[in-house]
Amino acid sequence: MPELPEVETTVRGLAPILEGHRIESLELRRADLRWPFPPDLRQRVTGAVVTRLGRRAKYGLIDTDRGDTMIFHLGMSGHWRIDPVEIGRHDHVLLETDAGRRLALNDHRRFGSLDLVRTDSLGAYGPFLRMGPEPLGGEFDGAALETALAGRAAPVKALLLDQRIVAGLGNIYVCDALNLAQIAPGRAGGRIARARLDRLAGAVKEVLVAAIAAGGSSLRDYVRPDGELGYFSKEWRVYGREGLPCPRCAAVIRRRVDSGRSTFYCPNCQR
Ligand SMILES: [Zn+2]
Repeated sequence: MPELPEVETTVRGLAPILEGHRIESLELRRADLRWPFPPDLRQRVTGAVVTRLGRRAKYGLIDTDRGDTMIFHLGMSGHWRIDPVEIGRHDHVLLETDAGRRLALNDHRRFGSLDLVRTDSLGAYGPFLRMGPEPLGGEFDGAALETALAGRAAPVKALLLDQRIVAGLGNIYVCDALNLAQIAPGRAGGRIARARLDRLAGAVKEVLVAAIAAGGSSLRDYVRPDGELGYFSKEWRVYGREGLPCPRCAAVIRRRVDSGRSTFYCPNCQR
């Protein structure tokens, strides 16, 4: 599943192809992904010039000179293909620029989405309404965590996955950040000292930045004919590493399953 760093890498890969370019055509090859495309999407986007690409949590943002923003979510299996040689049955959206570049939004499981909203009312877009700060933004730090977690008895891991507390974090990065910050995933959120919350906020940023850097280095491979944006492999600190040594203390990494979701952690150095 594409996580925040994959979405960021995707946005950075699409930016040079789209920014400053006119969208010559947008072809919707079906009526919906996870939900229907806006009925006027094609009409409002065709002929518009892309002014800027951005990201909010795990959503990619494509601003146009008409005051609209296309919002894409990659769901479970979505990715953009660049200059595809052949169009396949899972290429649901085709876009062509004035420079003759072609993009295909491919999503075989169709849990993704493509929406269009007015740029000046982006904050009113449903999924963004109660969304917390961007983890890589200046608003997210130990002080923000201290405020958000005050009095909370829930496990810190569950709280970090709550999009109202911090936006766009998935299981992989929460597991790895807690290991880096040496905080046990089951610790009550409201009972973590401020100094440790400072370390936790820093750890969240560090694991995301490292993953984006890894994605950036693999981006070179994407930007070629028929390239695919959105996925890269990376070695995690603890995620998926049950039975292997903790990168900090070399104790054996454990896995615990709560409500169908795995938590990977070091029982020795995470307290
Ligand atoms: Zn350890």
